[in-house]
Amino acid sequence: MGQAYDPSNVFARILRGEIPAQKVYESAYALAFHDITPAAATHVLVIPKEAHVSLVDFVANASPATIQGFFQAVTETARLMGVEESGYRILANHGPNSGQEVPHFHVHIVGGQPLGPLLA
Ligand code: 5GP
Repeated sequence: MGQAYDPSNVFARILRGEIPAQKVYESAYALAFHDITPAAATHVLVIPKEAHVSLVDFVANASPATIQGFFQAVTETARLMGVEESGYRILANHGPNSGQEVPHFHVHIVGGQPLGPLLA
């Protein structure tokens, strides 16, 4: 069993409307909002509305419809941000080596500029 979900994490608080976020897109499955410390011209986070600590928990425990709905929200968010044609990168951190900071599964969408090699 993985790490227990901590409902006081910052993304859970954004989902509950306790702290503000600059929203880009919302569906039944997901919420997308601008990263507070953007690492690229476009940097948006997409989080599932369900409580899952990380990618592994999400894939193991969410329903296929929820997983599909989540990834549809990722591509729709990129389309709304205008980076579908120019291209973008998605990234999800899992576990200690990744440096995952917020323990609510999320995908980063980065783009709006040439991104270079992944680990440069
Ligand atoms: P991680 O390292 O967990 O994959 O990424 C967490 C991301 O969440 C970081 O890029 C960080 O800038 C962003 N972040 C942390 N706290 C907040 C917040 O309160 N609001 C928003 N919009 N982003 C946040």
